[in-house]
Amino acid sequence: MREARLTILGCGSAKPTKTNRPASQLLDMCDKTFMIDCGEGAQLTMQQLGVRTARLYNIFISHLHGDHCLGLIGLLSTLSMLRRTQPMHIYAHSDLEKLMRPWLDYYCEGCSYEIIFHAINPRKRETIYEDRTVRVETIPLKHGVPTCGFLFYETHRVMQEDGTFAHETRKRYAYCSDTQYNPKMVEQIEGVDLLYHESTFLSDMAERSREFKHSTAREAAEIAKAAQVGQLLLGHFSARVEDHSLFLEEAKPVFENSVLAEEKTTITF
Ligand SMILES: [Zn+2]
Ligand SMILES: [Zn+2]
Repeated sequence: MREARLTILGCGSAKPTKTNRPASQLLDMCDKTFMIDCGEGAQLTMQQLGVRTARLYNIFISHLHGDHCLGLIGLLSTLSMLRRTQPMHIYAHSDLEKLMRPWLDYYCEGCSYEIIFHAINPRKRETIYEDRTVRVETIPLKHGVPTCGFLFYETHRVMQEDGTFAHETRKRYAYCSDTQYNPKMVEQIEGVDLLYHESTFLSDMAERSREFKHSTAREAAEIAKAAQVGQLLLGHFSARVEDHSLFLEEAKPVFENSVLAEEKTTITF
């Protein structure tokens, strides 16, 4: 079975730091590349890693806070300069298209490819993308603005004994950022191979975490434990915490198989 690969382009939160850029990831599944969030600088990290964009057709945006989408205009503009011809599909709250169209008209005038926005309802759990081998579902989250995570399924058609076909799920990846502690998501992400859950703060910053509707590392681990996931990946770290090992120290006693997201690294699962 081929491995899925998750590359971290940015694992910081709202304020970029010397070491962290805002949220962005690339998921390689079944020979396709999916971008999840596109914080400022995502395309620069892609360049540093030598990532090719030929297989990138789909970008999923969790919510419209700047640290999750301000890298889009630069990336889309660069792709036009590279004379891309394949369309790019962007899945996001409908406000993103309203906000971006004037910028696209100005900065990407005569764009070499088509940009297609797909409006999603972050409050509802629904399938928003499906092809022969990958399906993507929204995960409603609790945050200051309408926000959803994304659940990626690798599925394959297999022939049954009676000659009919059924879909078999082989791998699942859940992206849950940004959100406050939300046990409601547990049922939906139960048993996923890899869970990325935001861990913006530490427990001694819990008040701040609740105020800004984020989670602590301990809360992320509680969700991973309740959902019995394979592995927990912590990220969306606050600029206030320089030593990221503190997040791990807090998560591991609750959920042992926890790891820290690190930019420019790839996790296989
Ligand atoms: Zn954020
Ligand atoms: Zn946010």
